[in-house]
Amino acid sequence: MTRRLSTTIAGSLPKPSWLADPSFQLAAPWVVPPERLSEATQDAVRLALLDQEAVGIDLVTDGEQGRRHYIWAFLDGLTGTDTHTMATKLTRGTRATLQNVARIVGEVSRPSAVMVDALRFTRAHTQRPVKVALPGPMTLVDSTVDEYYREDAKTLAFRWATLLNAEARDLAAAGASVIQFDEPCFTAFPHEVEAWGMEALEAAAAGVSCKTAVHICYSYGIPAVLEWKARNTNWDQYTAILPLLAKSSIRQVSVECAASKVDVSVLAAAGDLDVLLGVIDVGTETVETPEEVAARIRAALPYVAPERLFPCTDCGLVPRSRGAALAKLRALAEGTAIVRRELR
Ligand code: ZN
Repeated sequence: MTRRLSTTIAGSLPKPSWLADPSFQLAAPWVVPPERLSEATQDAVRLALLDQEAVGIDLVTDGEQGRRHYIWAFLDGLTGTDTHTMATKLTRGTRATLQNVARIVGEVSRPSAVMVDALRFTRAHTQRPVKVALPGPMTLVDSTVDEYYREDAKTLAFRWATLLNAEARDLAAAGASVIQFDEPCFTAFPHEVEAWGMEALEAAAAGVSCKTAVHICYSYGIPAVLEWKARNTNWDQYTAILPLLAKSSIRQVSVECAASKVDVSVLAAAGDLDVLLGVIDVGTETVETPEEVAARIRAALPYVAPERLFPCTDCGLVPRSRGAALAKLRALAEGTAIVRRELR
């Protein structure tokens, strides 16, 4: 039986400064030479696992220590993409975030599994269940410029979904406990979610032998996004998305509830989905107290049974300092422990 209030994280953790330059936040350049990168990233993964285990995170990730960026890491394993000579694109719909994005420059294919070796290493260094995150199809469409196919967004999304599905099946076969698709775009394009985004997501997850999840946040805690969050007044995006997800084959949803102003009563619409409840704000160095975390969990309990409620971070912790990130993980675990005791 699943433990009540199992803890997990959205995915990424900050990298050590001996591995990547921390001043670049989301896509920090490596500071080790290419021939030493594999050894260095593996060492960083071991530290990320030790940190999560030391504070008591139940379902762990590799902290995405081997990924230069959460999207490019997958694209780098494919043919037909260029993640080095980037294009500039206004992304994320109403959030209008100007980003450097990868280009599609040829036939996109997956000659071999991209992340399976990294997963095998992670599994060899922890006894805990491991989650692996992949970018979702809609987020891949929004985060690339198609200079080759020049297809409409839906067609391109299903092209990505086919490649993601092959990767997800391989990761599940290699022992991943959860495959999570990251879809920050779902909150930016609600009409497209209904028109084709959900269908593309289900295509990416079809036939995957482990549990599948979707992470739907309001983007990383970087300055441009924080400015948008400060002036945004419409926080009802989950209202439309959750009923669609509840009817889908996806079994877990990860939602941002700490930094956003989402009314958690919307979680009643999640049906029997597992809910990964964001109780840690990843946009600030200020560390939550365990009591603050506990209060955020209690607020969701009227809408989600504790067997289906997983206290989690809002999004990846990669933009934070290592000190703050570790302290936030500790607050996540300690705040959860408070509520577990109350539930006995
Ligand atoms: Zn996120």
